[in-house]
Amino acid sequence: MKPWGGGTTDQVKKAVIIGAGPAGLTAAYELLTRSSDIEVIVLEESDVFGGISKTVNYKGNRMDMGGHRFFSKIDEVNEWWDRMLPGRDPDKEDDVMLSRHRVSRILFDSKFYDYPISLKPETFINMGLRQSILVAFSYLKALLFKLPEDNLENFYINRFGRKLYSMFFEYYTENLWGRHPREIDASWGAQRVKGLSVMAVIKDVFGRIFAKKDRVVETSLIEEFKYPKYGPGQLWEITAKKIKESGGTIIMNARAVGFDVADGNIKSVTYRHDGGEVTVDADYVISSMPIKDLVAGMNDVPADIADIAAGLPYRDYMTLGVLVSKLELKNRTKIKTVGNIVPDCWVYVQDRKVRMGRFQIYNNWSPYMVKDLENTVWIGLEYFVNEGDEYWNMTEEEFSKLGISEILKLGIIGSGSVVLDTHMEKVKKAYPAYFDTYKDIDRLTSYLKSIRNLFCVGRNGQHRYNNIDHSMVTSFETVKCILTGSDDRDAIWNVNTEKEYHEEKN
Ligand SMILES: Cc1cc2nc3c(=O)[nH]c(=O)nc-3n(C[C@H](O)[C@H](O)[C@H](O)COP(=O)(O)OP(=O)(O)OC[C@H]3O[C@@H](n4cnc5c(N)ncnc54)[C@H](O)[C@@H]3O)c2cc1C
Repeated sequence: MKPWGGGTTDQVKKAVIIGAGPAGLTAAYELLTRSSDIEVIVLEESDVFGGISKTVNYKGNRMDMGGHRFFSKIDEVNEWWDRMLPGRDPDKEDDVMLSRHRVSRILFDSKFYDYPISLKPETFINMGLRQSILVAFSYLKALLFKLPEDNLENFYINRFGRKLYSMFFEYYTENLWGRHPREIDASWGAQRVKGLSVMAVIKDVFGRIFAKKDRVVETSLIEEFKYPKYGPGQLWEITAKKIKESGGTIIMNARAVGFDVADGNIKSVTYRHDGGEVTVDADYVISSMPIKDLVAGMNDVPADIADIAAGLPYRDYMTLGVLVSKLELKNRTKIKTVGNIVPDCWVYVQDRKVRMGRFQIYNNWSPYMVKDLENTVWIGLEYFVNEGDEYWNMTEEEFSKLGISEILKLGIIGSGSVVLDTHMEKVKKAYPAYFDTYKDIDRLTSYLKSIRNLFCVGRNGQHRYNNIDHSMVTSFETVKCILTGSDDRDAIWNVNTEKEYHEEKN
């Protein structure tokens, strides 16, 4: 199957792929299955497949870093997922993509609110009369007096009004990014909640009432998603296995550190492995590693370009898996769950009393994520941090104490709950951020595009807020370029820049 055309030459060429996350593994698999003329070597610095989309298996209880909804409007991606996980019966088969119903709410002031904010009577009952009136007036004001959209604060106020913004966006955003929304570029909001506003919510409510068939639903409001039986990493473990079966090489614990650039091409890649350094020649380099690290490892980079790359900011992420006997939070919804726990897959925490930004309830992502589903609840407390800060440097014991004290404060667990176990995980550069030198990213990408055999794919590989599907599509486009011998990198860099599509959660 080579619908994109044949290989470029009659001799075997070598593709060095950096990263065994979704983008790197997709590129490897596509190259191997569409061309027999290309040798594939994947270098992965960690010892697991899936990158940020991995599944951690801790004593039979599985964790998903951030909770990964599989949702895509791109047919090619959906077909790919179906091919990798074709099973149908989760009780009998492992390779099953479950179909899940999204429930995720905001915990604010000890009450649950819909995410995104909805106009249900409960919302106003929760807020109380005084708050509701303030919200309505501030929204009307925002409709009448638009602020210049030169920062994220104004972006939100224009869409939700100042009151809702201060309740539901200000603290959460600052907690997530470590910067006040005033200091963040509005383009981040445009990327994240494209088209989502009080108006979009009203339209959605009316859309449901009148059930117009071809109604365009904002991605942020989409409620169904797919999920691999054993979490997102399962898909990437299967992909890695198929890559090896197809003759690809994957080297784990191999960190790419050096790129020898000469005459507008990367001639070789150097990686650290087993305490030494190895250099491998490359005809093509497909990089899903952070641009910042890629450029730092290249020779002869113009100083201004090196500065832009070095100044790109990121936000790092920590999560504490907590195994408890039961939750104190009561399920007051009509949704049935095993053990009648609250039905949310994840909950946004917007309470200024705590540092936690969100928590996951893995039981609700997939029942197969939890070893003893009937008698335990396996939750993941999420913290947005900076590598090297006071949280990042905490010992597992300190972090565990912090997490447990916060879930007690929030009433997530109570005196009747027993904490059975905890487990800490850290993810570097989970979020590429859109501030500081990001404003000059176009100059940096032009430079990267000028290196003829370099293809930048994925999320940190493009420093863009790409989800799994978009990360995969950057690799589909890369493979098309390589197999057709095209020099045009625009199709790769233009993924996820189109107007009406966006997947939000993080
Ligand atoms: C909290 C959170 C929630 C998310 N939720 C969703 C969701 O619901 N749905 C969704 O579709 N997406 C979601 N995403 C996005 C998703 O995780 C990413 O789109 C996806 O993992 C990106 O794939 P990637 O291959 O580009 O990068 P990564 O997953 O980051 O993989 C890159 C790989 O490269 C390796 N690497 C890095 N540097 C080097 C080096 N120098 N040498 C060798 N290897 C290296 C890393 O170890 C890693 O394995 C979420 C992300 C976060 C942070």
